[in-house]
Amino acid sequence: MRLSRYFMPILKENPKEAEIVSHRLMLRAGMIRQQSQGIYSWLPLGKRVLDKVNGIIRQEQNRAGAIELSMPTLQSAELWQESGRYDDYGKEMLRIKDRQERPMLYGPTNEEMITDIFRSSVKSYKNLPLNLYHIQLKFRDEIRPRFGTMRSREFVMKDAYSFDLTKEDAEHSYRKMFTAYLRTFSRLGLRAIPMRADTGPIGGDLSHEFIILADTGESEVFSHRDFVNFDIPAETTDFDDVAALQAVFDQWTSVYAATSEMHDEAAFDALPEGERLSARGIEVGHIFYFGTKYSEPMGAKVQGPDGKEHLVHMGSYGIGPTRLVPAIIEASHDENGIIWPASVAPFDAVIINMKAGDAACDAACERIYAALSKAGIDTLYDDTDDRAGTKFATADLIGVPTQIIAGPRAVAAGEVELKDRKTGARETMTIEAAINKLT
Ligand code: ATP
Ligand code: MG
Ligand code: MG
Ligand code: MG
Repeated sequence: MRLSRYFMPILKENPKEAEIVSHRLMLRAGMIRQQSQGIYSWLPLGKRVLDKVNGIIRQEQNRAGAIELSMPTLQSAELWQESGRYDDYGKEMLRIKDRQERPMLYGPTNEEMITDIFRSSVKSYKNLPLNLYHIQLKFRDEIRPRFGTMRSREFVMKDAYSFDLTKEDAEHSYRKMFTAYLRTFSRLGLRAIPMRADTGPIGGDLSHEFIILADTGESEVFSHRDFVNFDIPAETTDFDDVAALQAVFDQWTSVYAATSEMHDEAAFDALPEGERLSARGIEVGHIFYFGTKYSEPMGAKVQGPDGKEHLVHMGSYGIGPTRLVPAIIEASHDENGIIWPASVAPFDAVIINMKAGDAACDAACERIYAALSKAGIDTLYDDTDDRAGTKFATADLIGVPTQIIAGPRAVAAGEVELKDRKTGARETMTIEAAINKLT
């Protein structure tokens, strides 16, 4: 991508409305724009990051055996009347009427709709286990939308829903998602701690919130320090291996971790002082097992091996991609801007032409740009006629992992400089060597 032809509206000044660093940096880097309270556009640079986050979530969901579909954002109130949640959900639900005066709503979650899809076509235990997910916009009329896309009213959620014949099978489905979540957050460059959680209005009796520690987090959390040392389940994990997933679950739930709602002060205080971690955190994911809470009122049943009808046992599993993007920034930035983990960076490399219009600099940059593009390296080429200082500041701000700096003096010697955004380490090498290193 040539920056001169791209759309990346950088802000020079610090936006006044941003209270936390991730919100400030997302606005300054031209990643998002607020359209009305708690409702955002994702501008091209932000969209690239969001797509990468969604891509990793999708890969790990698929690896765990979940199947992607897509459900609409607008739902009929009828389904929610069936489950009993239409009245219970309260003011967070945006209620709408269509031209025939039929009550509709903008979905805050999809348990009812997925249960309706399930009951309309699955009739036998032979089609279980089943886990269906989508990555779709949700709307919750939050009383206090804030911190940019961290707590917005319209936001993206990956929500998966599992269906099983028995409670035991459903618990295995739960552990599949538990394991997939550990892998997902780790690949996003985050260490998320699963914490015993309150099940809230969704209900049920087994639930974990996945929490990223951050001073700006809205949740108060208490945990054992050992979590930093636990191994992330390998890519080769066999998700059908009940014992293997049980072992992952047992390790990751073996030590104390709870949000304030579930906090047991006596148990926490019994830990040796040095092992106690009391901090703030961001909820980036939440998983529930809730048994027959929806299958019962909505009549979602399958025929079992005994020939009888059984209500299916369900779970639901949410991740917030549009919250994860700022959460990653909270965990990875410095005074100059964002430092993207390679896995979600909007571009892999940025070429900084320090003297656009200079024949030698232009030629060197074009050569590198062509070689990297050909090798499939996502490259941003800053070919604008801005001052070099402005280009350096922009590159640091948008956090692309590798900068390739081409200035007249180095280029005259057939060289460029490579700068690592994270460490700040710089290395001068021939153009040839730079291309080889990055491809
Ligand atoms: P919170 O406690 O932050 O209000 P929640 O518990 O209401 O979140 P869930 O119903 O568990 O949220 O939804 C699953 C995931 O969706 C959350 O873990 C979070 O990552 C994301 N999410 C929920 N609400 C928002 C929001 N207003 N803006 C952005 N992401 C959200
Ligand atoms: Mg909420
Ligand atoms: Mg919550
Ligand atoms: Mg939650």
